[in-house]
Amino acid sequence: MIDQDPIYCDQCGASLTQKIPAGEDRIRGVCTACDLVHYRNPRVVVGTLIEHDEKILLCKRAIEPAYGAWTPPAGFLELGESSVEGAVRETWEEAKANVEIIQPFVSIDLPRIGQIHVKYLARMKEPHFEPGPESLEVEWFHWNEIPWDHLAFPVTHWALRLRQADREQNQDRFHRGTLKWKDKGSPLDFNSYDLSDLQSYPLKMD
Ligand SMILES: [Zn+2]
Repeated sequence: MIDQDPIYCDQCGASLTQKIPAGEDRIRGVCTACDLVHYRNPRVVVGTLIEHDEKILLCKRAIEPAYGAWTPPAGFLELGESSVEGAVRETWEEAKANVEIIQPFVSIDLPRIGQIHVKYLARMKEPHFEPGPESLEVEWFHWNEIPWDHLAFPVTHWALRLRQADREQNQDRFHRGTLKWKDKGSPLDFNSYDLSDLQSYPLKMD
């Protein structure tokens, strides 16, 4: 679900009402006292795919949603940081791994929940990692042993499938696509999404 609408004004603290502001085309929260219009926009989630010796680093989540499920390190971009900085920071927080970014890998839109996920390929600067406070475990998984039935989110599933396909075809590509819910089936199930707008671009690795 899209995050709950705010109910109080950012500017004066009075209650908001939901209405279409003059000259606009959709419902927004409008302050009943000062008329400030509260715009809500998608949030950006940034993360890394860290590979080494045919393996990828995954974290077992210690928080909801998807407690106990596996995912590469990722989290919400903070104000004031670049997406690369955010991906490096989230990787440190969740896996205590100090990484450098190699290249962008995927940008996936999730309009149903108002998110854009950007993931980078990365490598460790030093071999150390351990679970951060939001992870139960951090482990290397061989690409033949990805826990497909225990991944945290459909977006995780898709990103890993795309990377696995690139590896099998011995190529590096950048992908962009939309996880478009089919309006039926569980929104937690990867198979409930139409992925037909995927675009993949070869990248030259130097
Ligand atoms: Zn106000």
